[in-house]
Amino acid sequence: MGSALIRVGESYAHIRGTGIKPCSCCRVIADYMCDYPMGKGKTCDAPLCADHAIVQGRRPSNQLRLSFDEEIPPEDALHFCPAHHLMARASSAAPLPGQPGH
Ligand SMILES: [Zn+2]
Ligand SMILES: [Zn+2]
Repeated sequence: MGSALIRVGESYAHIRGTGIKPCSCCRVIADYMCDYPMGKGKTCDAPLCADHAIVQGRRPSNQLRLSFDEEIPPEDALHFCPAHHLMARASSAAPLPGQPGH
């Protein structure tokens, strides 16, 4: 059982229910999770709303569709929380695990 805010036009409504998670940065309902690799196959998994989920690129498991990579559908995108987005940018010299290096 959780509760979160959901955006309704210009305002927010409060909702409750099983499996509802608020964003780790604000209280809006989380539609995404942070995909930052934490090692041992785990990811950060911080719940994130659409505003705080920062797209990092396409998920490595969807490389078969790379020919369509101008627009990344949200379900195929890799998202980081703001803290991990900064960390990834700071260490952008080192390729992330799971990303093809150049
Ligand atoms: Zn948020
Ligand atoms: Zn994170």
